[in-house]
Amino acid sequence: MNNNKRHELLSCEENMGTSGASIAKENDASCDSIDKPAGDSSESPAGTDSVADEGSIQNSFEGFGFSDALLKTIADKGYKEPSPIQKAAFPELMLGRDLVGQAQTGTGKTAAFALPLIERVLPNEKLPQVLVLTPTRELAVQVAEAFRAYAAGHPHLKVLAVYGGADFRSQISSLKRGVDVIVGTPGRVMDHIRQKTLNCTGLHCLVLDEADEMLRMGFIDDVEWVLEQLPTERQLVLFSATMPSEIRRLSKRYLNDPAEITIKSRSQEASLIRQRFIIIQHSHKLNALKRVLEAIIDDGVIIFVRTKAITLIVAEALEAVGHDVGILNGDVPQTQRERTVERLRSGKINILVATDVAARGLDVERITLVINYDVPFDREAYVHRIGRTGRAGRSGEAILFVSPRERHFLNTLERAIKQPIEQMEIPNNESINKSRLSKLQKKLLAAAKTGREHEEETELLDALIKEVGKELSLDQDKLALAALNLAIGSAPLLATGDETWLKQPTQRGRRNDRREDRLGTRRRNERDSASPENHMDRFRVEVGHRDRVKPGNLVGAIANETGLQGRMIGRIQIFDRYSFVDLPKGMPENVFNDLKKLRVLNRELQIQKLK
Ligand code: AMP
Repeated sequence: MNNNKRHELLSCEENMGTSGASIAKENDASCDSIDKPAGDSSESPAGTDSVADEGSIQNSFEGFGFSDALLKTIADKGYKEPSPIQKAAFPELMLGRDLVGQAQTGTGKTAAFALPLIERVLPNEKLPQVLVLTPTRELAVQVAEAFRAYAAGHPHLKVLAVYGGADFRSQISSLKRGVDVIVGTPGRVMDHIRQKTLNCTGLHCLVLDEADEMLRMGFIDDVEWVLEQLPTERQLVLFSATMPSEIRRLSKRYLNDPAEITIKSRSQEASLIRQRFIIIQHSHKLNALKRVLEAIIDDGVIIFVRTKAITLIVAEALEAVGHDVGILNGDVPQTQRERTVERLRSGKINILVATDVAARGLDVERITLVINYDVPFDREAYVHRIGRTGRAGRSGEAILFVSPRERHFLNTLERAIKQPIEQMEIPNNESINKSRLSKLQKKLLAAAKTGREHEEETELLDALIKEVGKELSLDQDKLALAALNLAIGSAPLLATGDETWLKQPTQRGRRNDRREDRLGTRRRNERDSASPENHMDRFRVEVGHRDRVKPGNLVGAIANETGLQGRMIGRIQIFDRYSFVDLPKGMPENVFNDLKKLRVLNRELQIQKLK
């Protein structure tokens, strides 16, 4: 008999950070049904050892066997009670069991594995003990930061993030000095293992974070390779937002009698993230975006677009109307990306324009709005995108722009996420003006409450205002109005722009859209058959449609694992058994050698330059 322990949790009432929240009971009509755990083929959760039972629920972090130092760190972070996934994972991981968790970001899954693993790290060991594999460098940096923060009371514990594109030598010297927890992308971790700069013999725990993303990005073979290098006595933890068959196979093959936890975050998203769509012609998208931002921007906003080029177009258009905007795409160097995320986090900028890959796993609590400027590639990408808001129990909004021709995607999406997405009108002048006035009111209220930092400045301003009042014989109200006018400046307070295009798409607009689409297809076809641009060489790689390779797999693998920047990768053409990839001329020998070794979707690229 399989004695797997399964935890199937509803997160509908999950409310991290608030006390008194409880996990919903199974028969609560307001909640979604329970998801089946990974790899489960039975229809009902009968026999489940569920923790979704009020009596057995721990509503504090005590009782899991955590040290006082860790409990203090948790309290300092302001966490009041463990989230459902944490309640289920802590006891299992503290016991050293393997675990499969189906959960999205935003459910507290990082702490779910980081806290117990920190406690299980032995002090004064020279070799690394915990390895976390993540699909992207952003997530690697984020998870490493989370480990460091959670290990504040464990000063001996050393954490290192290793990922492609970052300096190899400094990683090697950190590894030599001794590291306890390594968080990295598969390719760079493989490189360190192969070069013997990472010794696996002391690893007693491996975490695969966002395993489905690693699969999507073509890293699953690399992950298996790493798994093969581990000592046989080890604890394996696998987290994935979805459970495609490949991930189920991986988990069956490598995990030993794992505890299974399924967190249904769809219901959390449904209740906390308001999802809407706007039908919009391509030609009006930028104007619609500006209107949406004017009408509802409040805190942080992420705008998702499909390509790097569009990140620039959108950012420039928004900057031109006075917004401070950051960009996250594959071309932006790592250090600058980190700076941009920090600026967003601290409120120095409110708007981030990003591509999917660059913004994966991004965790910034003040994001209250996600705009899908371009429709995402699939349902998973949509769920990941909107998961950037509604973090840690906060509410959020998501708006999807769809052209009349993309409506079918909307229908498919609604079916896949099993909930309707509301239609929204493009904000008209009236709603923009309402929003402008309310923002002004908020600013005035804040200014009235805070005053100036230096008392003597306030006195000087007070004297000045009295003088002006006396000179013009003005009362207080008139003076206040004059001051407000001064603050607003000469630009009109009210929007009066053309509103005729806001209504449903016209015949003409539809015709233009169709023309744009046709032109796009023609251009794409022309481009595909053309020879590489002057500064590029064309390479052949031995992976193609039959291996189900997608351009993203190749870009992800090449960019993430060799440190080549995304923008250096040119055209990609996929044929049945092979693909062409355009890469910059004169590529350094060592980079080319890195590429030769790469495996994508279980195939060695065997990259060769075309004559
Ligand atoms: P994650 O799902 O790991 O991406 O975490 C999402 C966010 O929840 C992060 O900002 C964490 O700091 C926060 N978080 C994790 N656990 C808790 C908790 N028990 N209470 C409050 N916030 C939490």
